[in-house]
Amino acid sequence: MELKVHKILKHTKVEGPGIRYCIWTQGCSRHCKGCWAISTWDKNGGMAYDTKDILSDIFNTKNIEGVTFLGGEPFEQPKPLQFLTREIKKSGLSVVCFTGNKIEDLEKKYKNILKNIDILIDGEYIEEEKDFSRPWVGSKNQRYHFLSDRYNESVLKNYKNHIEVNVQKNGVVFINGMGDFDSLVKKINFYSEH
Ligand code: SF4
Repeated sequence: MELKVHKILKHTKVEGPGIRYCIWTQGCSRHCKGCWAISTWDKNGGMAYDTKDILSDIFNTKNIEGVTFLGGEPFEQPKPLQFLTREIKKSGLSVVCFTGNKIEDLEKKYKNILKNIDILIDGEYIEEEKDFSRPWVGSKNQRYHFLSDRYNESVLKNYKNHIEVNVQKNGVVFINGMGDFDSLVKKINFYSEH
């Protein structure tokens, strides 16, 4: 079984509690105004990875507290999401998942996935409700659901929104996390030597 993936970061500190392995799934049909991740929308883009290879990479990655799924829209690939979250949970790592859906709608169809998730962060990005005051989220409507005993509301006090800038070996810069990306990009002086 394959998962269409936009990007994987093996270590990040800004997408949930602790240091996390993070998977941006490819494909999102919501097209929220102001979305910062437009390149994740096309379900034909990204790369298809065998879910068993993803799992083995996760289990070979040291010093992680858990795995975060975001997108794109992870629930647009329910079968690989169900398999991966189940196996990750079984291993003792924690699972955080972002979704543009509301939990009330997911409960109708995807209880088998929700039972594997420790923190579900739901709700699509609404530009008019932009708010970076809470960890990991960008608009006021988004909600945290603690679906297991592993975390509770108190974890939110330990984290603030941060932006991470990763410069890869090939020189490509990847920015993740949550915050005022537009201002950040305006402040950076991009320079390239020819
Ligand atoms: S749900 Fe997320 S990835 Fe999809 S359009 Fe909205 S903000 Fe972008």
